Amino acid sequence: MTTAQIDRPILLSVRNLKKYFPVRRGLLQRVVGYVKAVDDISFDIYEGEALGLVGESGCGKTTTGRAILQLQPATAGTVLLEGQELTRLRGEALRRIRPKMQIIFQNPYSSLNPRMTIGRALIEPMTVHGVARGKAAEERASELMSLVGLNPYFVNRFPSEFSGGQRQRIGIARALSLNPQFIVCDEPISSLDVSIQSQIVNLLKRLQRDLKLTYLFISHDLSMVRFVCDRTAVMYLGKIVELGESDAVNRRPLHPYTQALLAAAPVADPDLEATRTRIVLEGDVPSPLNPPAGCHFSTRCPRVMDVCRRVEPPFKEVEPGHQVACHLY
Ligand code: SF4
Repeated sequence: MTTAQIDRPILLSVRNLKKYFPVRRGLLQRVVGYVKAVDDISFDIYEGEALGLVGESGCGKTTTGRAILQLQPATAGTVLLEGQELTRLRGEALRRIRPKMQIIFQNPYSSLNPRMTIGRALIEPMTVHGVARGKAAEERASELMSLVGLNPYFVNRFPSEFSGGQRQRIGIARALSLNPQFIVCDEPISSLDVSIQSQIVNLLKRLQRDLKLTYLFISHDLSMVRFVCDRTAVMYLGKIVELGESDAVNRRPLHPYTQALLAAAPVADPDLEATRTRIVLEGDVPSPLNPPAGCHFSTRCPRVMDVCRRVEPPFKEVEPGHQVACHLY
C-alpha cells in the first residue's frame, strides 16, 4: 500500500462478508444447499481511492457490490461506511444513507425508465431524497448533463433517443445527482461498443479525480482495472485471492489464477506478445454450490500441491500492501 493511501482515512470497510443463496428443491421447497456467491471476504477502500474487483463472470463480484450497497441483504459480515454499520440498517435509516452510495449499472438502458424524460430521471432522486426541488433541481439536472458531456438542452428527450454511450453518461449523471461519496461501477462499459468504451472510462476517471469520488470498479478486464484503479482485488469463486496496488498485481502477479488471467489477456506490443508464456486453465469454474475443498482454485491450478486440496490457504500479506491466498507463499 502506498504512503498516500495509508495517509487517507478508510471510507468503506468490509469484514467477513458472505452472501449465500439458498437452493430449494421439491414440493415443499426444502433448502438443499447454498450457492456461496460471496464467501467470507474482507477489504478496505480508502477515501478517494478506486479499488478494482476483477474476475470471471459468476465469481461473485457483482453480488459483492450489491451486498455492500445493501441492495441484497448480506448473509453474514459487516460493511462500515465512515464507521457506520450498514448491514443492520433497515427502512428509513437505510433510505437516509442511500444518497452517500450509488451504483452505475452495466446496462444503462435497463436502468432508465423509457417513459420518463432524462430531465425527470435526473430530478426524481433529488426530489425523493430532498436534495433539491423545483428550479434548483432543474438547474442541477442541466449541470449534471454538462458534467457528463451531454447537451443540457436534451433534458426533455427520452432514453430511446440516445445512443448506448450517451445513455451510460445519463446513468452516470443520475448516480451523481445525490452527491454520493462512494460509487459502485458495475461493469460500466461492457455493454458498450469498443469505440466508445475508452470515452466512458476517461469520463469516470476524470469525475473521480474532480469530485474526489471513491469507486469500487467491477470488471472482468484486468487491464481496464489497472488503468482506472489504484488497487486491484482478484476474485475467484466467491473469494478474494489477491489484492495489491494495480501496478504490482499486473507486473508481479502472485496468485496462479491472476497469472493465468494476465496470460490470457491480449497485449498490444507484438514483440512482448511473442515472448509471453501462455497458461491455459483446464476445465470450467466449479459450481459455487459445491466448491472444491481446500483452495477453491485447486481443480484448475497448474501448481496445485497436496495441501491445496485439504487446507484453505489464508489470505495474508506477503509483500507490503500485497495480499494473496495461496500455499506457495
Ligand atoms: Fe494453486 Fe495451491 Fe496456490 Fe491454490 S493454494 S492457487 S491450488 S498453489
